[in-house]
Amino acid sequence: MQVRLISVTAPLIQVANQTLTPEGLIAYCARVSSPRQETLDYEKLLAYCIAHKHWSVFEMVDMTVEIVTSRAISPQILRHKSFQFQEFSQSYAKAQEIERYQPRRQDDKNRQNSLNDLDAATIQWFDAAQERTARSAMDMYHTALEKGIAKECARVLLPLGTRTKLYMKGAVRSWIHYLEVRTDNSTQQEHREIALAIRKIFMTQFPVSAAALNWK
Ligand SMILES: Cc1cc2nc3c(=O)[nH]c(=O)nc-3n(C[C@H](O)[C@H](O)[C@H](O)COP(=O)(O)OP(=O)(O)OC[C@H]3O[C@@H](n4cnc5c(N)ncnc54)[C@H](O)[C@@H]3O)c2cc1C
Repeated sequence: MQVRLISVTAPLIQVANQTLTPEGLIAYCARVSSPRQETLDYEKLLAYCIAHKHWSVFEMVDMTVEIVTSRAISPQILRHKSFQFQEFSQSYAKAQEIERYQPRRQDDKNRQNSLNDLDAATIQWFDAAQERTARSAMDMYHTALEKGIAKECARVLLPLGTRTKLYMKGAVRSWIHYLEVRTDNSTQQEHREIALAIRKIFMTQFPVSAAALNWK
């Protein structure tokens, strides 16, 4: 798993001879009806907007991140319909890698949960199974390409662990809700790790909003 910041909306306007920060732009737009639109201070305003669910102001600024993960996880990410995406195309380019995951035990009580208490022998078996499957799938895939089979057809031989890369662009509003949901324990660990890495980026880019959300 890898996550990288690609872009954040760069405000062009100046207020009191200062170029606004992205959060300053959110506040500037939020004050559209106020006679004090040029106020530089915005801590209280953004905290107020969050507390009172005045979410539209957070649609004024976008952030894009690059995510490297597997095809097991990318469909979960792509479900967040308020974002815009570009994903690596397996019909246009050759798949490169298959990711390996640490297995967990199925929770008997909660079907959407897994537990980190598998015995060493089972972990070893799963690791070997992953290796065997990955090697065999990649061998068959490369043979199919050598035989002239189109990438869009050959890819059916690949497992869900196949690595993918995507760009995810969305408004701060969408990031707030995505990060609330996907850093929660109810989200699969491999996806949660991505969301936690993005939250770190969010906290550096939007420190006032992150503090108001109580993110640490
Ligand atoms: C634990 C878990 C299990 C899931 N299981 C399944 C499953 O079995 N089958 C399946 O098909 N899907 C499943 N999903 C996917 C889920 O149903 C959603 O499709 C997915 O989380 C995308 O959320 P979204 O539609 O809110 O999109 P988003 O793009 O995240 O949000 C859409 C818009 O709603 C806004 N928004 C979101 N939350 C709030 C809020 N609290 N207040 C104000 N605005 C808000 C956002 O800002 C955005 O503008 C699961 C998701 C999770 C987290």
